[in-house]
Amino acid sequence: SVYKKISEVEDQVEAYITLSEEEAYKKAEEIDTAIEQGEVLGPLAGIPIAIKDNICTEGIKTTCASKMLEDFIPPYDATVVKKLKDAGAIIIGKTNMDEFAMGSSTENSAFKVTKNPWRLDRVPGGSSGGSAAAVAAGMAFMALGSDTGGSIRQPAAFCGVVGLKPTYGLVSRYGLVAFASSLDQIGPITKSVKDCALTLDVIHGFDPKDGTTKSVKNATSYLNEIEKGIEGLRIAIPREFFPSTLDSQITNEIMESMFMLKGLGATIDEISLPITEEGLSAYYIISSAEASSNLGRFDGIKYGYRSDEYEDIEELVLNARTEGFGKETKRRIMLGTYTLTSGYYDAYYNRAQKVREKIKQQFNDIFKKYDLIISPTSPVLPFPIGEKIGNPLDMYLSDIYTISANLTGLPAISLPCGFCMEGLPIGLQIIGGPFSESKILRAAYALE
Ligand code: GLN
Repeated sequence: SVYKKISEVEDQVEAYITLSEEEAYKKAEEIDTAIEQGEVLGPLAGIPIAIKDNICTEGIKTTCASKMLEDFIPPYDATVVKKLKDAGAIIIGKTNMDEFAMGSSTENSAFKVTKNPWRLDRVPGGSSGGSAAAVAAGMAFMALGSDTGGSIRQPAAFCGVVGLKPTYGLVSRYGLVAFASSLDQIGPITKSVKDCALTLDVIHGFDPKDGTTKSVKNATSYLNEIEKGIEGLRIAIPREFFPSTLDSQITNEIMESMFMLKGLGATIDEISLPITEEGLSAYYIISSAEASSNLGRFDGIKYGYRSDEYEDIEELVLNARTEGFGKETKRRIMLGTYTLTSGYYDAYYNRAQKVREKIKQQFNDIFKKYDLIISPTSPVLPFPIGEKIGNPLDMYLSDIYTISANLTGLPAISLPCGFCMEGLPIGLQIIGGPFSESKILRAAYALE
């Protein structure tokens, strides 16, 4: 079983925070019984799946890799978890992440540092680093992650697996511990594009418990769609995404993939789409502002970490937050609170929203003429553990290619497109128009 693999490699990789072995075997037995009784099985019957630890699982600890929620056991399942269970999937465990999904390396976890299975001295990416590492190391067949600024795609790229951030509203966020509600989406991390389509088939759809979800009418399933080929798809490649400073190994592998797509009948045009550090700043302002509001609920009273020492309520809240939150989380709360303060609001938050609108407009214009945009997923290869953790701005820069899809709500996938000389995977990103997951998956499948 997958637990055997876990017992072999988890000591080195450290992808999981909690293993739910007992529940998993119980579920496996239920499926066995269903088979014996000739029941019709769900599309994921018996498939071992790992869940990022910011997605609520009934009866199984959900910590967000934070001391604040170290003992939190949710009394309910997130909608995505319920859908997976209904489809027959078996929850293997909860995966490590950056605390509250804030980070790009999984080094911000309060509990452990997950290693990149390709090279144990490298980070697996983040914040869904545990999910990506678990799939890459064979410790789960598939996994769920969450993506606020790249947290599914970047770890998928770093670990050589497939990761999809769906269109905002395609997948329910009910039961996802919110980081930045206008940017967050849950999505699959898998070995193959087929598995990605299959998982998306199960988890997507309107949910009355999440008012931002939409129902989409698919002709068939995503799984059926992917075989349709890419004849006639119009692909744009923004020249600004390939500056001369970009690692030439990344540029080369992506160019090779472009030739492949062309050979399969797509048209490829070079276009201009300036990506600027302005966009990155807007992302960090908006996401931190929303985080400071969302994380206000962790006061050490209703649930969460409670300090032993306090004289009054104010001190109780203060101590819970001082002791319960890690460094990066505090940094974001402070940044967010500051930019929302009256007097600074216009200079920061409002300006960031304007930049967001501008970026939306730019992408809108491109998708009037093109079906897909192709770019690298990350400007850097999996970096050594410890290299960037002392320099937050350097860490933030590694999100430059992924944040646009969140600011615009557009769907985007990362898939492996080759290896660099040191034997580390390189990721390619495909961004599409609103609810164009089928097209994205078709192109990704053609490249696989
Ligand atoms: N690395 C980005 C951040 O730290 C994205 C995180 C995410 O997508 N959850 O905010």
